[in-house]
Amino acid sequence: MENPFQYADDFGPEKIIHVYEPKIGLKGILVVDNVSAGPSIGGTRMVPDISVKECFRLARAMTFKNAMAGLSHGGGKSMIMGDPEMPVKEKERLIRAFAQTIRDVKDYVPGPDMGTNEACMAWVYDETGRVIGLPKELGGIPLDELGVTAYGLTVAIDVAKDFCDLSLKGSRVVIQGFGSVGKHAARFLSKKGAHVIAVSDLSGALQNPDGIDIDGLIKFKEEGRKIGDFPGGHRLERDDIIDIDCDIWIPAARPDIINTSNVNRLKTRILAQGANIPATDEAEEILYRKGILVLPDFIANAGGVICGAIELAGGSEASVFPTIKERISKNMKDILGESQSKGLRPREIAMNLARQRVRQAMTYRRSF
Ligand code: NAD
Repeated sequence: MENPFQYADDFGPEKIIHVYEPKIGLKGILVVDNVSAGPSIGGTRMVPDISVKECFRLARAMTFKNAMAGLSHGGGKSMIMGDPEMPVKEKERLIRAFAQTIRDVKDYVPGPDMGTNEACMAWVYDETGRVIGLPKELGGIPLDELGVTAYGLTVAIDVAKDFCDLSLKGSRVVIQGFGSVGKHAARFLSKKGAHVIAVSDLSGALQNPDGIDIDGLIKFKEEGRKIGDFPGGHRLERDDIIDIDCDIWIPAARPDIINTSNVNRLKTRILAQGANIPATDEAEEILYRKGILVLPDFIANAGGVICGAIELAGGSEASVFPTIKERISKNMKDILGESQSKGLRPREIAMNLARQRVRQAMTYRRSF
């Protein structure tokens, strides 16, 4: 049998919970990693394949992300196995059943993630009484509708451009994933004068070297049509997007999509990690040696959780964008500056800072 403590280290995880309900086909995992800074926050993801390893890695990323964002929250994550495009009634039943089983795990606050949205969070709230990312009507700040994570990512890119002598105006952007993070990143960057020259989603990819009409494409997708069928560009195979020469490449889909088997195909100056853990450590090392600036996920995509923490504390929507801007730009400036002066990867600098913060938080906990 698998060793249940194989992921245990100085920081956690505090709990790993498997959820199984054969009657309705529910399979889920919850990892509460570290709660020294406060109750853990982390998304509830619905994907066809789930694993403890991935859930743990994502929960750990949340521990460090929340610490670096200066939040009084630890890190957690949960996963429900299923096709996110399943009929809505079936999805509601699965999500409600999952929420019921984790109702008493009070040191975990779920949030929207891949395959879940504000409506899903309303169901979870109805079952558990705690959640971030609620619809407006329930007092939530609709983080996916506002595109707060993509906004934070744009802030991070805006800082990073000065470290590689790039102007956003006229820069060429490629985005993998056209959901809450990807489509809003395309929108914010286009507004800053960047040309989004290629995008992909599960259904395929689209390229236009002159820049895609992003508002048009968002509308087209909302009509239920496929990215590759959009008239303002030409269709590509989904995974060909990695070969496109650009200035900024944004992963906004699944983990580990950049790895040693494909990293040398990337031709970009900045890899801005909208997705969580989108590149393996080996791949990031190769990118660093090639002089490609990697903006670490847990710093650059913290906009969503900052917004969620503000919502949970009863804060206002008006404070969300300035808070994200202030925290992410300060973190990015500090990390990229130190990376340059010390000759270390941005992730190493960021990890050292995050570890220090979590260790400090751990000293305030009862240890007897
Ligand atoms: P989403 O479900 O809204 O969108 C995901 C998109 O990725 C979809 O367009 C889907 O079709 C596409 N996709 C999936 N597999 C793909 C593949 N192999 N190739 C190309 N496209 C693919 O999810 P989201 O909320 O946008 O999250 C995307 C990533 O960003 C995840 O890693 C998530 O953990 C991370 N993230 C999201 C937030 C947030 O606020 N939503 C915050 C921080 C991090």
